[in-house]
This record gives sequence, C-alpha cells and structure tokens, in this order.
Amino acid sequence: MADPSTNLARTIRKEAARLGFSATGFSSPVPQPLAMQRYNAMMSEHRHGEMAYMEERMEERATPEILLPGLKTIISAAISYNHPLHNTAGQPYISKYALIDDYHTVVRKKLEELLASLKTLLGKELNAIITVDSSPVLEKTWAEHSGIGKTGKNSLLIIPSAGSYLFLGEILVDKEITDNKPPLPNLCGSCSNCLESCPTGALIEPGKLDATRCISYLTIELKREFTPEESAMIGNNLFGCDQCQQVCPHNHHTTITADSSFTLHQNLLNITPETILNLTKSTFRTLFHGTPIYRTGLKRLKRNARAVANNLKTS
Ligand code: SF4
Ligand code: SF4
Repeated sequence: MADPSTNLARTIRKEAARLGFSATGFSSPVPQPLAMQRYNAMMSEHRHGEMAYMEERMEERATPEILLPGLKTIISAAISYNHPLHNTAGQPYISKYALIDDYHTVVRKKLEELLASLKTLLGKELNAIITVDSSPVLEKTWAEHSGIGKTGKNSLLIIPSAGSYLFLGEILVDKEITDNKPPLPNLCGSCSNCLESCPTGALIEPGKLDATRCISYLTIELKREFTPEESAMIGNNLFGCDQCQQVCPHNHHTTITADSSFTLHQNLLNITPETILNLTKSTFRTLFHGTPIYRTGLKRLKRNARAVANNLKTS
C-alpha cells in the first residue's frame, strides 16, 4: 500500500494536470555537486556572456534551504507551449514562446492555485515559495531529479510525452512529499540533430551551450548593440531561435501540446522587420504588451530588426 506521502504526490500531480501542467515531480533538496560543477564551468569559461545575474546568489543555488528555511520538497511543474506552427524557411522568425502571453505570469498563477489546493488538502498553512525564473534555482536539475524529464544534447529539458517546448516552475515547500520516481535514462541515443543544425555552432558539445554564440541569447538577453559578427549570426531571427527544438524528434510526436491558456498572438505571426522598425512606443505597446517581447523592450527589438533586414537583403 502506498504511504501517505506517495498518495499526496499522486493527488497533487492530478490537480496539477487539471491546471494544465504536463508533468509534475517531487525532489528532496539533496546536494547536486555535478550540476553545480557544470554551472560553475559555464561561468569560468565565460559561456554565459553578459548575463551577470547568473554569477550571483551561488550559495542559494547550491543550497535551496537558504531560500526557504525548513525546505523539505521541491515540486517541479512543466507546462507545454508547443503550438504546431509551420514557419517558412528564410522568413523573419519569432520564437514560439514569445508569440503567447508572458509565461512568468501564466505559470505563476497556476502554481499559486496548485499551492492553494495543497494547503486545502492538508488543512493547514505551509511555508512555501513559488518561483518562475525568479529565484536562483537549478530548475532543470530538480526536474531531472524528480524523474519527469531529462536534459537533451540541446541542453533543454525533454519530457517524453511533451517534448521540450516547456516552461518550468517550482514550489519550494516545508512538507515532505515523495513518490520515489527514478531519474529517466538518456533520451537522445545516437541522435545529434540539434548539434548539427545549430546555425551558429553554439552547442559546442552534447549538452554544452556557449550562450555567446546562441541566437536566443543574442536577440533576447544581450543588452548592447551587436558587433558585425553577431549581427550576421542572428540570420532571420527577430526574437529567439527554436532551431535546436524544431529538429528534435521528441517534439515531432508529442501527445501533449500547448496548454489552452497560451493563446497565440496571431498578429505577430507574419510580422516584418520593416513593421518593427516603424513602431512607436505606443504601437509597440499595443502589439506586444503581455508577451515576453514587451519585457525586452523596443530598443532591442529594433536592433534585432535592423540586423534581420540587413541579413535578408544580403542573403
Ligand atoms: S537556440 Fe538556436 S542558436 Fe541557440 S543553441 Fe539552439 S539552435 Fe543554436
Ligand atoms: S535533437 Fe536529438 S540529440 Fe538533440 S536533444 Fe533532441 S534527441 Fe537529443
């Protein structure tokens, strides 16, 4: 017979599925030396580029109990944003995740509902924090540890039934919840599609990303103007890049697709660099408010559009 903690895990997973999560897992906060070693290597090799925030709060990353004293369980919840879109090669491209409402808001709201259900189930208050890219948490590591997914050679978490077009969020809670799911085996096998198709060679080894060469980093995270080399590297990508996910076989036959809360902003599907270059603050707000692009801002979007317009002209 399952113990009460395992039964609780099942009930939470069911409630999370009702809220739209594709997979939910539970980890006890054991040390993760290998993940920290990999993380530190990215910093010391300067593969994180100008993302200085990644160098901060290392102690909390390694020891999540600092974030929540009395921490017993990290609940990892993944939700799909995989809209089946077909882009035309060579056309200006916006990453799938940016064509929908900002996941920070959507996922947090769902996790707040999940936490409220957990409190109701237990009939008591709990100490908990919710994080959606808002705290220094090794989110892929905990998701792997909980047995819901495995990091692929493209450095992204893959969930067998849902692929890799996923947002992850966590609830850290001072209540022990276990379901003893073993970690998944490697899901890539002999495939190396992502490494072979990355247009900039940013995947320097299986699972090892040089963000300074990654189009997603360049078009979203980088704050300054592009160098001529960076400008050429972004090709036709106005915002983000999905190439290493598009070629992944795990995304071709998923049984789970985008949660219904992620409505597509249809008016962004065929946007051109010229339209972006003509935007004012006010028209930018009208078009992009509520999407992840709005956070990045008009200045950087126009920088990207200038580079894409130039690349399309010279291609
Ligand atoms: S997002 Fe694009 S540039 Fe970055 S690793 Fe994947 S394929 Fe390469
Ligand atoms: S494309 Fe192939 S190698 Fe890359 S993550 Fe997917 S399965 Fe793994």
